[in-house]
Amino acid sequence: MGLNSNYFLPAVRSGAISINLFSRNLEEFPEDLIKLSGTLEKLNIKKNCITDLPRQFSLLQKLTVLHLGHNKFEIFPESISRLRNLETLHMHDNCITTIPESCIGRLGKLKVLNLNSNKIETIPSDIGFLENLRFLSIEKNRLKTFPNEIAHCDSLEEIHASENELVSLPIGFGYLGKLKKCILRKNLLQDLPETFGKLTSLKCLDLAANDIRIFPTKFHQLRLRELYVECNQLIVERPVRSVQEDEIMTLKELASRTCLKELSQTNSLLRRTIKHYPALREMLSLASKCAMCNSLFLNTWLECVHFIDSRQIVGSPPVGPNANKSKIPVRALLCSYKCFNAQPSDGDSKQPVSYYGVAFPASAPPSANTIN
Ligand SMILES: [Zn+2]
Repeated sequence: MGLNSNYFLPAVRSGAISINLFSRNLEEFPEDLIKLSGTLEKLNIKKNCITDLPRQFSLLQKLTVLHLGHNKFEIFPESISRLRNLETLHMHDNCITTIPESCIGRLGKLKVLNLNSNKIETIPSDIGFLENLRFLSIEKNRLKTFPNEIAHCDSLEEIHASENELVSLPIGFGYLGKLKKCILRKNLLQDLPETFGKLTSLKCLDLAANDIRIFPTKFHQLRLRELYVECNQLIVERPVRSVQEDEIMTLKELASRTCLKELSQTNSLLRRTIKHYPALREMLSLASKCAMCNSLFLNTWLECVHFIDSRQIVGSPPVGPNANKSKIPVRALLCSYKCFNAQPSDGDSKQPVSYYGVAFPASAPPSANTIN
């Protein structure tokens, strides 16, 4: 069904800034609307049967709010990308499989992007140009990951990506310094990037119904108000004794540790000369710190786990249904068995943290083990 060619005349005469065509059985975009290009700021064409937008659509340069939810788009319409003043775009409940590259990145003023309930598998990397984007919702799609360039969305405060096929998050995710709310329920995440502990603004994190075993090393430094981790494969605190044999480190590891130690001395010769060896400097910048002795190491470590009372992560007052009672397994890296064995025995109350090695029995859920 179309609209009478005189339908928009009164709107054109009065200089309408807002048009509502909600649920009008439209199969094509009414091109007469282009006549409102001098005034139209808000357009609602939600719940119709539109499959594409004409090229002239991009003439609606004053548009700031556009509702295209519940239509039949299969490809993200390229003419939207020329709407330089667009701040809010709703394209939920369509059949979109593809967002072409170099398309959404041009929407420099976009603040709200809602792509829920489509069939999107990838977000193009030019999303990184959306430096004003605050709210991204892409629930119920087929996303496998986010592009690392998401790190450049400096204003992003909320990400809603429940019910996708996310298997991993990029390192850049941890650099979203303003992120307050992150909803990743019902995905296939097995791990979070180590940078996740840097999300200092994060207040609400929903990771329920994923495949996570252990959280990254600085996870317990987050100060959340809500944390949901039910229905994961979290390592449980069930210590068993085991005997571990020390391993022989590579020459590269031994030399790196010596260099790292030397670099920590203020007056060391190496500290003054390393600027002439950029490759060495870059390699050593990837070093990690031992949770026991604080010394630095490069590639060889023991992956351990410690269990943090969730009350320590979820600041007072805790809100989530399981926020107050669970123990959260957090990864800890130890430099050697020497440090691992240096831990005081269970009865020592002065030792606030116990680090456990991680065991994976073939037939049981993962659990922690320790040696004595
Ligand atoms: Zn150590």
